[in-house]
Order: sequence, then structure tokens, then C-alpha cells
Amino acid sequence: MTRQSVPGFETVRGVVHANEPMSRHTSWRVGGPARYFFIPAGREDLARFLQSLETDTPILWVGLGSNLLVRDGGFDGAVIATHRGLSKIERYGEREVFAQAGVPCARLARFTNRHGLCGVEFMAGIPGTVGGALAMNAGAFGGETWQSVTQVELVNRRGEFTHPPVESFAVAYREVTVADDHWFTSARFTLSCGDPDVGQARIRSLLTERGSRQPVQRASAGSVFRNPPDDHAARLIEAAGLKGLRHGGAAVSSQHANFIINEGTASARDIETLIEMIRERVMDLLGVMLDPEVRFSGVDR
Ligand SMILES: Cc1cc2nc3c(=O)[nH]c(=O)nc-3n(C[C@H](O)[C@H](O)[C@H](O)COP(=O)(O)OP(=O)(O)OC[C@H]3O[C@@H](n4cnc5c(N)ncnc54)[C@H](O)[C@@H]3O)c2cc1C
Repeated sequence: MTRQSVPGFETVRGVVHANEPMSRHTSWRVGGPARYFFIPAGREDLARFLQSLETDTPILWVGLGSNLLVRDGGFDGAVIATHRGLSKIERYGEREVFAQAGVPCARLARFTNRHGLCGVEFMAGIPGTVGGALAMNAGAFGGETWQSVTQVELVNRRGEFTHPPVESFAVAYREVTVADDHWFTSARFTLSCGDPDVGQARIRSLLTERGSRQPVQRASAGSVFRNPPDDHAARLIEAAGLKGLRHGGAAVSSQHANFIINEGTASARDIETLIEMIRERVMDLLGVMLDPEVRFSGVDR
């Protein structure tokens, strides 16, 4: 269904789908339907869409859905999909890159590398968007998203844009505190200058290392649990003997114990139950309560 046939959104130019299966938009390939699924035709169009929503309509922002479990009953509200909707990326001045929220992290890494800038090579292997990386403070191999962010733009549910100073955000490991009903539309990254060949070699070696350690070709959401202080969730899960544990179509990866794989037929319920089983067993056996890194949304069927 396109925007023309979804009543209430006649003023927007982007695409609106009704009852869009979220399994098409999450890397776990699970998730029931979203009441509305919107891909904005740019920033102003996004503001128009937000203004056309009832003030109590729940809103879920989705980048590439690579850290998101949408439950089987779906999301009874509006999903705003930034990928392909907010996709501008530009260089500013000598060392700055501006990227909208829907730009894939890998594209940001390649773009900056081509421009002889370094600092976000670690993003090359993160299969999410800039918006998701800002929301999660995504990181890898010692790098974190917010280390090089010098400006952000947010939008609220009235469609108003704001530019709070980056120092006003509480940024921590895989966590950023943002005011309720505010979402990222873009960011500026200030980077250092470097040799593109060296940057390219670093990207290649990080991707190779990732490929050897993680089941990157399988349907997953990356690391399911945050690493507890001074330890690794994968080590604890493995120590509890849970590698290969399954529930329905979901299984703990035998390659990386902090990854849960959809083996093809998993439901969101299968995955969530497996997450609960892991938490309980690690707590019982090792006395550590693991804290999920993935975000949950929607309702059970
Ligand atoms: C194979 C694999 C490897 C991974 N490796 C890593 C890794 O090395 N390091 C790492 O940190 N993560 C990793 N991840 C997890 C994931 O890729 C990151 O968390 C990524 O930043 C999520 O981006 P996304 O666009 O997919 O966000 P989504 O999954 O779409 O959303 C994640 C959360 O961010 C919110 N969100 C999305 N966009 C916005 C926005 N514009 N404004 C406000 N909130 C928003 C969503 O509502 C949701 O709560 C991996 C995942 C996979 C599948």
C-alpha cells in the first residue's frame, strides 16, 4: 500500500505503508506488522509526517533494525524508517563530515576514508545506520560513535528540530540518554586527517577480524547482551555451557556465544524466550544477571 491509499498522510511526499511486516526491516528477520511504516522524502517531509500523527500515536524509529527485536504481534503505531529516507552525506571544511541518520555506518566509514579522514574506520563492520549508532553509542575495536561527534540534530514529535550541545548528552557504553520523544536526524563528525591507503588497510583488517570471530552472514542482531564490567557476556554464556542452546528456530551461535541466530523459522517469541533462558541460567550458575543490549519493541501475538 502506498501513501496515496493510507488516509491521513496526504500531505507527505515519502512512502507510507500500512501493516508493514517488520520482519522485512530487522536483521533477525522477525517482527509483526507496524500500523504505519514511513520512509521520509527528506527532513521537512519527516516534520510534516510527525505533525500529521495523533499526539498519542506511539512512534518507533528504525535504522537498519540491526539491534532491534520487534515482537510477533507487531507495533501498533508509526515506524519511522530512516534508511533511504535521510541519506545525505557531505564533507564540510577540512575535517568535518555531515551525515543524516539513515546513512549506513559502512558508507560513513568508506566516505570518510575516501576523503582522507580517519576516526570512524571501526564503523565499517557495524551493519546499522548513523541514527542507530548515535542512539546506541555503537562501537567496536576500541572506537565509539560519540568520540568524534561534534554536532547533532534532533526532531521532536511536533516536528521541531533542535541542536543541543553534544556535552548535554549523557553518553556511556552502548547507551545515550536522550529527552523523551526526541530522535536523531543527523550528526557532524570531526575527524583527523590520514592516509586513505592506511585507512583502507585498517578497514580491511577489521572486517577480516570480525568475519573470523562473528557469524556475520547469519540472521542475528550482533551481541545480544552488554558486557558486564570487566568481563564479557560471551565468556559467561560459554562458561555456563550455553553455546548451541536452542529454542524453536533460535539458537545461541556456536561461533560467538553472545549472538543468537534465527536459523530460518524463529519467531520473535523464540528469540525472546532464549534470551530469558540465557539470563536465568547465567544468573543461576555464575551469579551474574546479563543486561540485554538489543532493544525490544511491540507486543506479543
Ligand atoms: C552482525 C552484527 C554485528 C554487529 N556489531 C556491532 C558492533 O560491533 N558494535 C555495536 O555497537 N553494535 C553492533 N551491532 C548492533 C547494531 O548494528 C548497532 O547497535 C547499530 O548501531 C544499530 O543501528 P541500526 O540503524 O540498525 O538501529 P536499529 O536496530 O534500527 O535501532 C536500534 C535502536 O536505536 C533507535 N534508533 C534508530 N534510529 C534512531 C534515530 N535516528 N534516532 C533515535 N533513535 C534511533 C531504535 O529505535 C532502537 O531503539 C551488530 C549487529 C549485527 C547484526
